[in-house]
Amino acid sequence: MSYTLGEIKKLIMADPDMGEVLKQYPLRITPHIARQIKRVGDPIWRQFVPDVREIKRDGGFRDPLGEEELSPVSGLVHRYPDRVLWLVTERCAAFCRFCTRKRLWATGIRNHNREDFNLALGYIEGNPKIREVILSGGDPLTLKPGVLLEILRAIRRIPHVEIIRVHTRLPVVSPKSITQATVLALKEAQPLYLNIHVNHPQELTTEVRRVLTAIADAGIPLGSQTVLLRKVNDNPETLESLFRALLTLRVRPYYLLQPDLMEGTSHFRPPLSLGIKIMKHLRHRLSGMAMPHFMVDLPGGGGKIELVPSFIRDIDDDFVYFETRTGGLARYPLEHSESRELLTLFREHL
Ligand code: SF4
Repeated sequence: MSYTLGEIKKLIMADPDMGEVLKQYPLRITPHIARQIKRVGDPIWRQFVPDVREIKRDGGFRDPLGEEELSPVSGLVHRYPDRVLWLVTERCAAFCRFCTRKRLWATGIRNHNREDFNLALGYIEGNPKIREVILSGGDPLTLKPGVLLEILRAIRRIPHVEIIRVHTRLPVVSPKSITQATVLALKEAQPLYLNIHVNHPQELTTEVRRVLTAIADAGIPLGSQTVLLRKVNDNPETLESLFRALLTLRVRPYYLLQPDLMEGTSHFRPPLSLGIKIMKHLRHRLSGMAMPHFMVDLPGGGGKIELVPSFIRDIDDDFVYFETRTGGLARYPLEHSESRELLTLFREHL
């Protein structure tokens, strides 16, 4: 069974509070995504279908990563010295209900104009420390291929920019929108990395697999970002199967992200400890190639930090004791007086 957009609308409008939700955070689903919904409340439904909890006050923030304060010009976020995040469009093909930037939906989606583009390019050009430009949004691949190409070429003309990264969900939510022209534009701008946003194995349909294969065949390195979401993928089995499948598609799992503190999205957020437990479980089962980094993006612009499960059980003067894959203990000898330094590092880590 699958749904049409009309059927989904009819189902959700049965709730009298839904009108208010849609006023603040509209519904946008591609026909491809609607077809992937097999039942109400399944992992695809939960990601894309509005929920009345989105308008509840839950202590979250309108701009959880403090991006507006870190924007020297419209659409450009400069948080780390060597890279910038450029939100080249606010458009997305489908709206993910847990989105960190859903504040932009409420103000009405805006397309950046030429003046915005020139200001952003000028800023990048004027800052020789910037080595990497990350195109995001919105979804940069919703731009017409000609516009995308123009932006990529303009970035490539800046001598100090070494790497371009593009973050997109389009191959997953609307695979047919990825045209040959899009792939050629990306290919021309190498070295360029394409990071897709994918959260559940059910999203890797035949059409999605086909388009990812075409992108990989064009020689474009692919990575993935996955948001850890309650009742979508918050268990090791689902994530293991997702990361294994991605690796076979030549998509290297890059980040598993704790959801940001966006207002009205607390129903998606699992406890931090769950992510660490899942990473520990996966570490014992997956090859390093299939292991993403588990990241939390700190509120207020504090930046991303990695949360790593510890396998150290104890440290004494002579040995450090590690938990093994099978739950046993293995000891590793320490150099003279190394234990004190290690203990300090370990405590700092805690
Ligand atoms: S594709 Fe990305 S930017 Fe667009 S709604 Fe989903 S999470 Fe937000």
